Amino acid sequence: MIINTDKVIAMSIFDLLKIGPGPSSSHTIAPMQAGADFAQRIKKLEYHLLNRVKGVRVRLFGSLSATGKGHGTDRAVIAGLMGNESSSCPLTLLNDLLNMPQEKRVLDVGNKKLPIGSENIEYCAIQHNFPYNNTLIIDLLSENYPNKEILTNLRNKTDMLSESILFSWEYYSVGGGFLQWKGWTASKTVHPPHPYSNMTELRMLVKEKDLSLDELLLENEVAITGLSIDEINRKLDVLINIMKDTVLRGVSTDGYLPGPIGLKRKAKRLKERADSLRTFDQYLCLLDAYAYAVAEENAVGNTIITAPTCGAAGVVPAVLMIMHEHFHLDITAQRSGLIVAAAIGFIAKNNAGIAGAEVGCQGEIGVATAMAAAMLAQAQGYSDKVVENAAEIALEHQLGLTCDPVGGYVQIPCIERNAIGAVKACNAALIAENENPDSHIVSFDTTVKAMGEIGRDMNCKFKETAMGGLAVCVIYC
Ligand code: SF4
Repeated sequence: MIINTDKVIAMSIFDLLKIGPGPSSSHTIAPMQAGADFAQRIKKLEYHLLNRVKGVRVRLFGSLSATGKGHGTDRAVIAGLMGNESSSCPLTLLNDLLNMPQEKRVLDVGNKKLPIGSENIEYCAIQHNFPYNNTLIIDLLSENYPNKEILTNLRNKTDMLSESILFSWEYYSVGGGFLQWKGWTASKTVHPPHPYSNMTELRMLVKEKDLSLDELLLENEVAITGLSIDEINRKLDVLINIMKDTVLRGVSTDGYLPGPIGLKRKAKRLKERADSLRTFDQYLCLLDAYAYAVAEENAVGNTIITAPTCGAAGVVPAVLMIMHEHFHLDITAQRSGLIVAAAIGFIAKNNAGIAGAEVGCQGEIGVATAMAAAMLAQAQGYSDKVVENAAEIALEHQLGLTCDPVGGYVQIPCIERNAIGAVKACNAALIAENENPDSHIVSFDTTVKAMGEIGRDMNCKFKETAMGGLAVCVIYC
């Protein structure tokens, strides 16, 4: 089998399914990582440079600029510059940054402590020529950097400004909380024993090696992470438990979501309603409640698992919870499903994209729906062809989905969209499980390719900029 070696998937499950704070992997997790990375890099700068440092500036571009405020990008970068990693940043700090924006925080620069706050963040061009839509540049500024008043009056500021930048790093938030930077290259050190770049190759390998889909993916994961199977299983259980805990926290919490929309949380009410139903509606209502629960927890900035992103974080846990409670699938089946769900996310990321800012919401809720559908089919023991078909059906009917969050908040349409995605995932699995798998015409790779094409042609208004669609049609006071 000939494989495009440049596109071989060597990503770990735990890189895709990341633990971190909501509400947006592109706007919170990656920018926080950028801040933390920058804080580390400047520690290695020479003394004479550090001695001249006067301040720091963060410039946001693309949808980070358009919707960064609503998504909490400013707070995320500040928390990162303070030295926090997204997987362990205390939620209390993020809440404090929200509630006490005037309070000064500190960036440690060798022998100096620089004050940092929201005035250090600049919201720059939404359309630009950087290679990725979500770009942020962090600059360390010298004592020559002009103050705001002079800056506004400067005619020819470019020269003067570039002279007063002591150190600068250009970061790209490429979706799902993944971070790259100018000059970044993928690590070539990892060679998975079963190299594949898409679903067709993955299924051919399964046949060739006489392994099951999850066994093959697990062998790759061992090689990529250097962890044993027991260690991987323990880490999978952590993810599964966080997903379930987030659902349980969400269905027991009332109140309003942050921001000017004044959106009321609904998961608790839906769960209570589901408990009182005795019909087929109960199943749907539970799925809705679980997806709402996680999406609402994400909207308040609590810890979630990116699956594949923060905005779409409710779909996979909702189906996982139903697998556990409704289908009574044990932990081994749940792990197996989650491994395969991650592979669906890898393939989509590798061949199209998973960021709303790059391909619209089809890459977020669409891919999450495909991951959840594949997870359910896999956990129930269906063949790899059925698993592929489930993912394909789920994604096919989310093609073209735009990203148009109202007010730039990951609330409308995002929360409801998670619930619709969870229900659609179960239906996609059901259709795939009840058809002749070999008569299914469209392959998952074809649908991923279509998603990439649609995403590339999609107007930037519909790529997480809050400049089109529902974002401009919904009026709220
Ligand atoms: S509309 Fe979709 S892609 Fe956009 S922020 Fe909401 S969940 Fe993410």
